[in-house]
Formats: sequence, C-alpha cells, structure tokens
Amino acid sequence: MGLDLTLLYRGPLVSCNYGCEYCPFAKRSQTATELNQDRQALKRFVDWILQRPAGDRIRVLFTPWGEALIHPWYQSEIARLTHCPQVEKVAIQTNLSCALGWVEACHKPKLGLWTTYHPVEVKRQHFLQQCRRLIEGQIRFSVGIVGLKAHRAEAQALRQALPDSIYVWVNAYKRQADYYTSEDIAQFTAIDPLFGINNQVYPSLGHPCRAGESVLSVDGEGNLRRCHFIPEQIGNLYQPDLEQALYARPCTNATCRCHIGYVHMPELGLDQMFGTGLLERIPEASGRLFASTTLN
Ligand code: SF4
Ligand code: SF4
Repeated sequence: MGLDLTLLYRGPLVSCNYGCEYCPFAKRSQTATELNQDRQALKRFVDWILQRPAGDRIRVLFTPWGEALIHPWYQSEIARLTHCPQVEKVAIQTNLSCALGWVEACHKPKLGLWTTYHPVEVKRQHFLQQCRRLIEGQIRFSVGIVGLKAHRAEAQALRQALPDSIYVWVNAYKRQADYYTSEDIAQFTAIDPLFGINNQVYPSLGHPCRAGESVLSVDGEGNLRRCHFIPEQIGNLYQPDLEQALYARPCTNATCRCHIGYVHMPELGLDQMFGTGLLERIPEASGRLFASTTLN
C-alpha cells in the first residue's frame, strides 16, 4: 500500500510584506541568498512528491513563517503539485496580497487557499476585490481574521460583504486569559458559527493524534516532526527509512491550541466536519451554514 500522508511544510522563509504588530515576521526581509535557499528547499520538497509512486495519496498545507505567495517560486511549485496524480490537495495560508494570475496555471479542483484579512494592513475593499477574483476564478478558499475586539466591526463587514457560501472563520485571541465577555463570544459566533471550536484549548497529553502517523511537519531540510508544536525530530523525508518513522504516537504536549494541530485529534471528529476542506479550513457544510450565495 502507498503512503497516505498530510504534509505541513514550513521552509526557511521568515519574511513578510505586511507589518502586523503581534507577528515576529512583520516587515522582515531576507537576503537574495536566503530566499534562494528557500526556493531550493521548496523545489526539493516538490520534486520528492512528484517522484512518489502514483499509488500514494498526499495532501500538502504550506504554513509559512511569513508570506510565501508574493514569491513566484511558491506560485509555480504549487501549480506543479496540483497537476500531480498522487496529490489530492494543495493548500496554503496567505494574506492574499499577491497578484492572482498564477492560479490559472493550477489544476483548480486540487487548490485551496486559507486567506487571512488583516484590516490594519490592507483596505477592506481591496481585500474583497481579491476575494472576488478567486470566486470568478472558481478557486476554493476560506477567509478569516484574528478575533481582536478592535477588529469586530471589520469582521462583521467582511462577513456581510462575502457570499454566504464562503466560510469566514474567526481565530480566537488566546494570549490573554478571559479576553472575551459572553457578549463578545455571541457576536463572534454570529460571524463564525464555529468560533466556539477555536475558542478552546484542548487537553491533549496522552491523547491519540494522527500527527506522527499520517500527518507530518516538514522543514526545508526534510526534517520531520509530528506537528509544528512538538520539536522532537522523528525522521527525515528524504531518507529511505521514512515509513518506519510513521506510527501512532500519543501527544506529548499538555494542550493543543491551533486549528492546524487539533483538527488531527480523532476524538474531536473535525476531519468529518471539514472533510476535503480540512487543510484550507472550509467545513463540508459551509454552503449550508448560511443561506444565500451572492456577493454583496
Ligand atoms: S500577514 Fe501574517 S505573516 Fe505577515 S505580518 Fe501579518 S500575521 Fe505575520
Ligand atoms: S494534539 Fe496537537 S500538539 Fe499534540 S501531536 Fe497532535 S497536533 Fe501535535
């Protein structure tokens, strides 16, 4: 039987064109040499996938530290992956600031974008224009926002402006204990009916998780970790003994806090809720969570 793997790729990129104040990569730039290293690492990763047997089933989520899609090598490598028979899904987290012509080179049914709206960095109308282009181009995408109270009006306006068929998520702000009042929670839940799922910290120590068995975090050198949150290395993607590194491992962290982690805990059943949209964060029922489908 071939490999059945979800790969969470995070290469050497550590830079972004936006300046969100809570983010360590804000307005950071990298030298041409560093960016070239990122490009080579990405090419190696994609080449490895393309050389896998057609019987494999591989899904990829790019979770860069910074913004990747402003670099043409991410655009072209993602397009390459979408045409690969053993790849089922290619998704990427992005601030959606890039030009969008590259999506036309993709096999669109396999592409998914996890887009985040940063109201301090971009005008809402511009962000919505980018969303419109994705809708016209028939690209699957989710839209989200960090659930800061100061951004609630923007989050509401975003929800209102997008068709109901587009899922708008709100990431709970968890750095401050008891940040939300019950009124805040009600208002964010009105925007994102699944806000309550994200507004939790899940106890995970000793709990089963697909990370380490069928979900892996991969860095630019191919080093494997079960997820982005447990630093222990469990193998290397480019070594021949890869399959021996894959087995069920109970979680060794006390808690799991992020969507890209806890969705892989079987006890939460979120793989069923999100189905084929798990990586780009689109629930199966997103069309049914709301009613209309027109862009306001
Ligand atoms: S867009 Fe994302 S990566 Fe860039 S500064 Fe903002 S939070 Fe950080
Ligand atoms: S529960 Fe979260 S922290 Fe634990 S292994 Fe799974 S993804 Fe990693």
